[in-house]
Amino acid sequence: MIEFEHVRKAFGEHVVIEDLSLRVADGEFFVLVGPSGSGKSTLLRTVNRLTHIDSGRVLVDGKDVSTQPIETLRRGIGYAIQSVGLFPHRTVAENIGTVPRLLGWAAQEIDARVAELIALLKLDEPGMAGRYPDTLSGGQAQRVGVARALAARPKIVLMDEPFGALDPLTRESLQASVKSIQRDTGTAMLFVTHDMDEAFRLGDRVGLMLDGRLAQVGTPLELIREPANERVSEFVGGTR
Ligand code: ADP
Ligand code: MG
Repeated sequence: MIEFEHVRKAFGEHVVIEDLSLRVADGEFFVLVGPSGSGKSTLLRTVNRLTHIDSGRVLVDGKDVSTQPIETLRRGIGYAIQSVGLFPHRTVAENIGTVPRLLGWAAQEIDARVAELIALLKLDEPGMAGRYPDTLSGGQAQRVGVARALAARPKIVLMDEPFGALDPLTRESLQASVKSIQRDTGTAMLFVTHDMDEAFRLGDRVGLMLDGRLAQVGTPLELIREPANERVSEFVGGTR
């Protein structure tokens, strides 16, 4: 569903992604984990072309992303980031319904999907749908961002540390919600975090990024039981 073929990206002299190849399957929850600065966000952003690569190819559903109209590409891909970026002059319901509206869904369909996501993401405080972003807590705003990314049931979802600023309890409950929505919709998920516990809890497979390369790709158990080298075992062990 998402394929990286020999992707390279440098900012000036600084090579941030080096000859990286990876395939994320249909319906797979794939977590990219690694220390800050290892190139995770840059790699994620090549999929919806927020980052342009120097060489190699990125394919979505078998099609090279660089050959697709940008609007079509981005409408087909859910994207949620830590610094949310909700539209301030739109209500919670309007924010969540952004992509379905662009895709021309009927109003009742959009309302039903918004109500469903509000419940799934435990946003069901009275009047939530009609509230504006500046009346939300940080955690609620992040949940609305996640709901917006999932609203149109995209086949591909990218999430970049979407639970960053949340307390541990809220975070765990959201991890569970996102995992179950992903399973139900058969979405291919590419999820970025620097937190090994989060990676192991969520990932069908996990890719550990170190200095712009995938040091190891495998199931959580494989990384724990058979770390490919010293640095992998340090990272796996060190944050647990
Ligand atoms: P991560 O998400 O793993 O923390 P990033 O992908 O954000 O890492 O960044 C990887 C490296 O690329 C960092 O050294 C960062 O400073 C650098 N970088 C990211 N974006 C830019 C940019 N637009 N211009 C220059 N350097 C950048
Ligand atoms: Mg990042």
